[in-house]
Amino acid sequence: MKLFPVLAASLMLGATALQAEESSSIKVTRSGAQPSQLGAASSFTGSVRVDALFRAEAPGRVGGGTVTFEPGSRTAWHTHPLGQTLIVTTGVGLVQQWGGAVQEIKPGDIVWIPAGAKHWHGATANNGMSHIAIAESLDGKTVDWLEQVSDAQYKQQP
Ligand code: MN
Repeated sequence: MKLFPVLAASLMLGATALQAEESSSIKVTRSGAQPSQLGAASSFTGSVRVDALFRAEAPGRVGGGTVTFEPGSRTAWHTHPLGQTLIVTTGVGLVQQWGGAVQEIKPGDIVWIPAGAKHWHGATANNGMSHIAIAESLDGKTVDWLEQVSDAQYKQQP
């Protein structure tokens, strides 16, 4: 019984040392460790898969994921508090800023969405599209979702 507080203290010390070691050591997240998720129906039209890639440890605040859109699927209109970079990896996609023209995007294209700019991105009607999406969080938030992109808005393709 007398040993218990000493043991507990040493265990706690061990845990603290372990945490410090973890946060200052290289970390490899293995392929397949993070399950794919379906894009929420409130934020996307059609079939969209989201695969988380990374989230920086504080005080870093950058994070990214792969988003895969089936033909005809797209995000709702939305904004990013600190902007967003899209790196198109497969297929043929579309991006549009509110009030602007719909632009076609293809693998290798890199899209910068300025902070606060209302926009959507997604696949074309006939082709799927995947992109890596990278954004920094502000007050724990990377996106503010707005209304869905209507079929009439979506059909203004180039
Ligand atoms: Mn976006």
